[in-house]
Amino acid sequence: MQTDRSAELFSRAQTVIPGGVNSPVRAFRAVGGTPRFMSRASGPHVYDADGNPYVDLVCSWGPMLLGHAHPKVLAEVGRIASGGTSFGAPTELEVELAAEIIGRTPVEQVRLVNSGTEATMSVLRLARGITGRDKILKFAGCYHGHVDSLLVAAGSGAATLGIPGSPGVTAATTADTIVCEYNDRDAVLAAFAEHGDRIACVITEAAAGNMGVIPPAVGPDGDNFNAFLKRTCQDNGALFISDEVMTGFRVSRSGQFGLDGVEPDLMTFGKVMGGGFPAAAFGGSRELMAHLAPAGEVYQAGTLSGNPVATVAGLTTLRLATPELYARIDAASERLQAEVAAALTAAGVPHVIQNSGNLFSVFFTDDGVTVVPDYATAQKQHTERFAAFFHAMLKQGVYLPPSAFEAWFLSGTHDDAALSRIVEALPAAARAAAEA
Ligand code: PMP
Repeated sequence: MQTDRSAELFSRAQTVIPGGVNSPVRAFRAVGGTPRFMSRASGPHVYDADGNPYVDLVCSWGPMLLGHAHPKVLAEVGRIASGGTSFGAPTELEVELAAEIIGRTPVEQVRLVNSGTEATMSVLRLARGITGRDKILKFAGCYHGHVDSLLVAAGSGAATLGIPGSPGVTAATTADTIVCEYNDRDAVLAAFAEHGDRIACVITEAAAGNMGVIPPAVGPDGDNFNAFLKRTCQDNGALFISDEVMTGFRVSRSGQFGLDGVEPDLMTFGKVMGGGFPAAAFGGSRELMAHLAPAGEVYQAGTLSGNPVATVAGLTTLRLATPELYARIDAASERLQAEVAAALTAAGVPHVIQNSGNLFSVFFTDDGVTVVPDYATAQKQHTERFAAFFHAMLKQGVYLPPSAFEAWFLSGTHDDAALSRIVEALPAAARAAAEA
């Protein structure tokens, strides 16, 4: 496989962009080698700058639920863009997108923003503004964007690069952040016992997807971790925030809420709802959202918020995300999980595959580990085995997330042909992992 053009571009990029990339995990630091520079994409495929095709299991880290360059999304984007790309005034499309999100989730109102980071940053301010409390509780390995106060024990690129916090985040900023291990109910109860009346909110990924996929575990009473968090927040006058930036409109029509039915006080959304453009949102009940300016006093704003091009891309994507589409993606995910497990088992590579709906990831664990409930366990995996697996897949034309700590993303265009190409690549990749 010729990759000279990517190498050339990466070398040039490193002179003009820090680390050569505009988001850390794209740099292949965790797996080694030169990142592929992508030039175009269509359906389940991305094509690099040298013209090599790959079956794409990144899907832009989640947004491309319909596959790349969906003709109806492109047509709507073109139609709207030709009528002007930003007005800084309200539009009908924003009302439609808000209504579409509300129709699928328990929120009654949403505010549109431009990125998941902005959504979580804003929702924390709102929760603190409403409760008049300072402290927030998050979980180790959960990533909520690069918000200062949430960059503590964060997953995703921060997990990959081993940066638990970040220089530039002040001690004062994180002093009010309490971190518990994911799925650890005793730790949450202990935190509330100590700080109860000072905790504004608990924020969690609806199902963890940034330390590998770790679903909310079912407890002794049959309720899952999200239900426990909701109840604990209620008992203590705190707000329960579910971050569905990754899971929202992906793991089901209604996201993780559609799978477990736990009603959060506040929610964040992103990725799929922008259809490949910068759009995200946060929402909750009318009563809670009324605290937001201009209705209320908690300030939040954005020049490009509700941008018409991003809004129509998201709206068109959601309208095309039918129950049939989710059924297709769920089936593709189940098949792929089974095939990956079979290939790794055949090669004698210990592993655990976990999922929430169609979102899944593969942990290259020690022998005997059967479940990965938290970040501490996730960190014990053999990342060198993943790196060998990753490169063997890449060489055979399959583009996986370049980190052992990321979910694998499918789209409605991952048909039999695309899945078969992945399946054919698995045995060699599993053998490479075994030898690493
Ligand atoms: N929350 C979650 C759960 C995410 O997965 C991400 C991004 N991977 C974010 C927030 C941040 O979103 P963005 O990258 O759009 O800022």
